[in-house]
Amino acid sequence: MYNAIICRYHEIAIKGNNRNMFETRMIENIYHLLRPVENIRVSKVRGRIWVEHKDKTPFTEKELDLINTQMPKAFGLESFSPVIMTEPSLEAMQKAVDNSCRQYFDKAFENQKVVSFRIRGKRSDKKFPLDSKQIEIELARIVGKHYDYDSLNIDLENADVTVWCELRAEFAFVYYETIRGPGGLPVGSNSPVLALLSGGIDSPVACYEIMKRGCRCDFITFHSSPYTPQDTVDKVKTIAKYLNRFQLPRRLFICNLAPMQKLIRDNCTPRFRTVLYRRMMFRIAERVAIRHKRFALLTGESVGQVASQTIVNMATIDNATNMLVLRPLVGADKNDVVNHARRIGTYNLSKQQVPDSCTVFAPPSPATSAPVPRIEEEEAKLPEWEKVMEEIIDSIEICDSEPDLQL
Ligand code: ATP
Ligand code: MG
Repeated sequence: MYNAIICRYHEIAIKGNNRNMFETRMIENIYHLLRPVENIRVSKVRGRIWVEHKDKTPFTEKELDLINTQMPKAFGLESFSPVIMTEPSLEAMQKAVDNSCRQYFDKAFENQKVVSFRIRGKRSDKKFPLDSKQIEIELARIVGKHYDYDSLNIDLENADVTVWCELRAEFAFVYYETIRGPGGLPVGSNSPVLALLSGGIDSPVACYEIMKRGCRCDFITFHSSPYTPQDTVDKVKTIAKYLNRFQLPRRLFICNLAPMQKLIRDNCTPRFRTVLYRRMMFRIAERVAIRHKRFALLTGESVGQVASQTIVNMATIDNATNMLVLRPLVGADKNDVVNHARRIGTYNLSKQQVPDSCTVFAPPSPATSAPVPRIEEEEAKLPEWEKVMEEIIDSIEICDSEPDLQL
C-alpha cells in the first residue's frame, strides 16, 4: 500500500550556497543504497527527499524491507516514513486511511482492549475548503467505522496509534510511522580521507564516525606476510566491504610492512619498535593519500589505550606526517567504542582473533615515552629505509569491493 517514502534531513547543515550540493549527494547516496529497487525515482520537493517508483506503483513487501534496512545507513537523514501518497482530495485521504488503518489498530488491539489514537493533519494548501482540524475529524470518522465506539479513545499526547496526514496543493499523503535516520551529513559532501584500517574494534568505528561527517573513506591496511597469516588480510577485506555499505564503494590498499619491520628489528632498540612501525605506517599512508588525492589520514587511536597511544608516543607518531590526522575516538572509552561497534554491526567482524601486523617482533615491554629526538636517533640507524619504503609502496595491492545487496 505504500507508494512513497518521505525523507527528512537537517536544515541547518544545508543552509547557504552548499545546500544544493548536500541534497544532490544525499539523492545519489539513496539511489545507491536502494539500487536493487527497480524503476525508482529519488527527487527533492520543498526541503524533503521523496523516493517512489517512476510509475507511482506501491512498493512490494520485499522492497519495503530493503528500504527499512538501507535507509538508516543514509548519513544526513534525520528520519523517514513510508507514506501512502494520494491525490489532494478528502475522499482520496479517507480511502487511504480506510485501507491502511486496520494494520496498525489491529496490532495495538493485540495488547489492550482500548486503544488511544490521534490524527495529526497538516494542510499546506490554504485554498483547500477544509482546515486541518476538519480534515482530522473526517479521518477520525473513518477509523471509527472499523471499531466499537467504546474501544477507541482520543489522546493527543500519548496515543497508541497516530495517523499523520498532510495535504499539499499537488498531492496528499498519510502515514503512521517515523523511523529515525542516522543523522550527520551525506557521505561525499566533504573531502575523502584515507583510513588506517586494522582488524581491531576501534578503526571501523572511527571510519563510521567520519563517513557520518560526510567524508568518503578509502582504506589502507598493513599486514606482515609471512609472519601474519592470510586471515589477517581477509578479515580486513570483510570489514572494508561491510563499511562500504555506508558509502559508494571505495578502495582497500593492502600493504606488506614486513620488509620494514625486519629492518627495524635488525637495527633498532627493541622497545621502540612499535612507535617506529607506526611512523612508517603513517609515512606510507601519507604517500598513498597524496597519490590518490585523499586529504587526511584517519585512525582509531584513543589516548592511553595502549603503549603507542600515550600523548608522547602519539605526538612522535604524528610527527612522521605533515598530513592532517583525524582521530574521532581520541577521547572515547573502550566500552563505549565496543557498544558503538555492536550498534553499527562491525563488532562481530572485529572480534575474531587474528594476528596483527603491529605485534610482529613486538618487544615484551614497549616504550611508553619515545620522544621525537630519541626516535630520530633510532631511525638514523636504519640503512636505506626510504628505498625499502618505495619497494613496499610499489607492491601495494588494491582491492575494490562492493557489498552484496539483493532484494
Ligand atoms: P583498533 O584500534 O582498530 O581496535 P588495534 O587496537 O589493534 O585496532 P591499535 O594498536 O590500537 O590497533 O592501533 C591504533 C590505530 O592504528 C588503529 O585504530 C588503526 O587506525 C591503526 N592501525 C593499527 N594497526 C594497523 C594495521 N595493521 N593496519 C592499518 N592500520 C592500523
Ligand atoms: Mg585500538
